[in-house]
Amino acid sequence: MISNLPDKPSQPGRSAGYRGVLETYRPLLNIPAHTLTITLLEGNTPLIPMPRLGQELGECDLFVKFEGLNPTGSFKDRGMTVAIGEAAGAGARAVICASTGNTAASAAAYAARAGLRSIVLIPQGKVAAGKLAGAMAYGAQIVQVLGSFDDALNLVVEITRSHPIALVNSLNPYRLEGQKTAAFEICDVLGSAPELLCLPVGNAGNISAYWMGFQEYHQLKRTGLPQILGVQAAGAAPLVLGHPVDKPETVATAIRIGRPARGEQALLAAEQSGGEIIAVTDEEILEMQRRLAIEGVWVEPASAAGLAGLAAQVRAGRRAVRGQRVVAICTGHGLKDPEIIAQRAAAPVAIPVEMKALEAVILPKEGEK
Ligand SMILES: *Cc1c(COP(=O)(O)O)cnc(C)c1O
Repeated sequence: MISNLPDKPSQPGRSAGYRGVLETYRPLLNIPAHTLTITLLEGNTPLIPMPRLGQELGECDLFVKFEGLNPTGSFKDRGMTVAIGEAAGAGARAVICASTGNTAASAAAYAARAGLRSIVLIPQGKVAAGKLAGAMAYGAQIVQVLGSFDDALNLVVEITRSHPIALVNSLNPYRLEGQKTAAFEICDVLGSAPELLCLPVGNAGNISAYWMGFQEYHQLKRTGLPQILGVQAAGAAPLVLGHPVDKPETVATAIRIGRPARGEQALLAAEQSGGEIIAVTDEEILEMQRRLAIEGVWVEPASAAGLAGLAAQVRAGRRAVRGQRVVAICTGHGLKDPEIIAQRAAAPVAIPVEMKALEAVILPKEGEK
């Protein structure tokens, strides 16, 4: 049933007539007929060529899929349009999720759009300012749990078993149905799957969705399959260590998760694709965040983890990517977490309203170029 699909891939950018991921790919999504279209025109994010960084990382043909350009600033919108549309169509009045921040903002926005109440549980400790503000702005009821993300998720799962509130974490299968559309878009733009895809792994829904998407598109259109490199933060790397982490710690708050709900599925995705799941340090993550910004792409720390992992592997001689097409998924926008930059940057220089003072700070000094 692919007759309703457009013949030509949609162009990057939000062209007139673009109707969001659900309407663009509805025949390929395993969703109930009652699913409503609740859209903010998410998806169709650009696949940005990164020639200079690709050269530097090992002479590969590198692209960044910038998911930070979704309506609420992260890829979560792809899954949320479907999960909320399904919940609304099934008659739900309220939705709930546990979140390190981006799921909260996304759930709140789509719930507001659908006229549903949204409740979000956030963990103790750092939730990036831009994410919390988003959830507040879109009108969610925010509850901070004095525990970890994993504790919050347990509470959410339990309450949705006994009350008519829809769960919209990525345990909800419709989230993955929406998120897999990113794999379709990559194949549509490149004409086939890349050789390698790298991305951050937190609760492990996204890596699972990509693998599902690539496999299904390959079945349908013979687009080929990428190797998948999933990357966790060293302080929150249960899938690399092989056991849960009780107190996950990392600057990459979006992947500060010690018991990934879809861990098994993620390991299977990496293995079946011929890839793997590895960990990188916070320093490596922040270094790649800086490196991407020099290319004009500012992402939140977690979003730099995928490429940081690739860089580490190439450096260690564990992977050669020369001549390959590599796609890095940059999952969320840098604006979500402005503090991480402000903390590390020098404060701006202040000057009086005088030309001399301006010249003194911006022009080269005598003897310098
Ligand atoms: C949610 C999120 C992740 C992790 O995705 P999972 O599906 O939980 O593995 C990575 N980066 C950002 C910016 C996110 O919001």
